[in-house]
Amino acid sequence: MEKRRNYSRKREAILAAVRSTTSHPTADWVYEKLKPEYPDLSLGTVYRNLAQFKQDGTIISVGVVNGQERFDGNVRPHTHFVCSNCGCVLDIPDEYISSERVAQAERKYHLQIDSTDILLHGVCPECLSKKQESSHG
Ligand SMILES: [Zn+2]
Ligand SMILES: [Zn+2]
Repeated sequence: MEKRRNYSRKREAILAAVRSTTSHPTADWVYEKLKPEYPDLSLGTVYRNLAQFKQDGTIISVGVVNGQERFDGNVRPHTHFVCSNCGCVLDIPDEYISSERVAQAERKYHLQIDSTDILLHGVCPECLSKKQESSHG
């Protein structure tokens, strides 16, 4: 019984950690963040729970950036930007595919589209300003 309660506390903590940040954390990040408070937490538990949350739709996966899957506690529709320089993932509040476009694609290709997500790739504001600084001297 005690074990089960401890398990669900960790589960809650993992979810809270993902929701606490807009940095679109990796499983490693969640593990490192919770480790001081939950010394017996394993990386496997973090992975397992994140996979479960993703399946439930409690969190979403942004995709794999530099070999690591990135998670998001914000499940409202939004667009992501990935910096190809530092690997940061930024939220873009706008949606870039209208429901009319989705309906059009469904008709044209005989599909049922349940969700859309667009990943924009480029250089983030921070990396851009660093680039400018270094090019100035
Ligand atoms: Zn960057
Ligand atoms: Zn996001």
